[in-house]
Order: sequence, then structure tokens, then C-alpha cells
Amino acid sequence: MSTVDVARFRDLLLERRQAVANALENLHKENAGSLEDATGELVSGSADQHPADTATETVDREIDHTLEEHDERVLEAIDAALGRTEDGTYGKCVNCGAQIPEERLEAMPWATLCIECKRKEERG
Ligand SMILES: [Zn+2]
Repeated sequence: MSTVDVARFRDLLLERRQAVANALENLHKENAGSLEDATGELVSGSADQHPADTATETVDREIDHTLEEHDERVLEAIDAALGRTEDGTYGKCVNCGAQIPEERLEAMPWATLCIECKRKEERG
């Protein structure tokens, strides 16, 4: 019986989470800034912890909506996967309980389905 190296994938998840969160933040910045600031490119990686302002959006988000929605889903999936690393179910197919191969987890550490269940799902 094989088990995955949860600690390793946890690091991977946290890494991806940071990357996706940054991408999302950039999308928000682009959308929010496009009206009043078309030229400025002063954005750099700041470690400043600014609470996200979610109230003043929804005006200008059509363009990147698909991308943004995708990123938000990935973020949710990553958070769910991190939760599973805590409760010991990480790396198991949520559908059939089979061990998800490590190579699949390396490509997509938030995967919830084994390859077979994923194929079935995609076929409908
Ligand atoms: Zn499965």
C-alpha cells in the first residue's frame, strides 16, 4: 500500500496557491485600474498585506472574467486540497477512494479524482 508524500504536495499546493493568488490580484488590478490609469506600470511585488476590497468590483470584469473565474476555482480547489492534507484524505480519489498517482498530483496537486474517474466524468 503506497502513500503519497503529503508534506511535499502541501508545499507544492502552497506554492501554486501563491502563484494563482498573485495572478488573480493582477487581474483585479488591471480591471480596477483600466479606467483611471491607462499608462502607469508601477505595480511591483509588494509584500504589503492589504485586505482585498471585494465591494467595488463587477463593473469592468467582463474581459478577464473567464480567466478570473478559472483562477478562483483553482484557488478553491487548492484550499480544499490543503484541507485534505490536514484530515489525511489527500491523494485519494473522492469518487472511488483509489490512490491518485503521484505524477498526476505533481501536474495538478489539487486533483480530486483518479485518472479513470476523471475520464468518466469528462465523457459524461
Ligand atoms: Zn476514482
